[in-house]
Amino acid sequence: MNSRNYDDSNIFAKIIKGDIKAEIVYENDNVICFKDISPRAPVHILIIPKNKYIDLNDFSSNSNTEEKISIFQAFSKIVKKFNLEKSGYRLISNSGKDGRQEVPHLHFHMLGGKDIGKMLSL
Ligand code: AMP
Repeated sequence: MNSRNYDDSNIFAKIIKGDIKAEIVYENDNVICFKDISPRAPVHILIIPKNKYIDLNDFSSNSNTEEKISIFQAFSKIVKKFNLEKSGYRLISNSGKDGRQEVPHLHFHMLGGKDIGKMLSL
């Protein structure tokens, strides 16, 4: 259980159901990956589990082994597909209020294709 309740009306739930279109770049039984609608880098892919997990803590606590493996497989698929192996990338998962998570369905931002800059501006 998560301390927050999953909101079925979030935009990524609609993308998973197919009610809203997204530019899907990779998909398997457990994971879907699509382009961010407001890209912050030349490569900006969102990697999300298909099941209902609010954030990384929810996923870490409640997903099964197959789902966990699938997410890691998706990371390497995207790295390969967008040629990020040598140049590098940043993987971010915002969570909750302090993490400024906007969409309450676990997602990882994979950003690359240029120098992404400092991790945090202090
Ligand atoms: P976060 O602040 O980590 O919750 O990021 C949510 C991300 O979802 C933002 O980068 C948005 O640009 C992106 N986003 C919101 N709606 C859509 C959509 N319909 N298709 C693709 N990306 C979206």
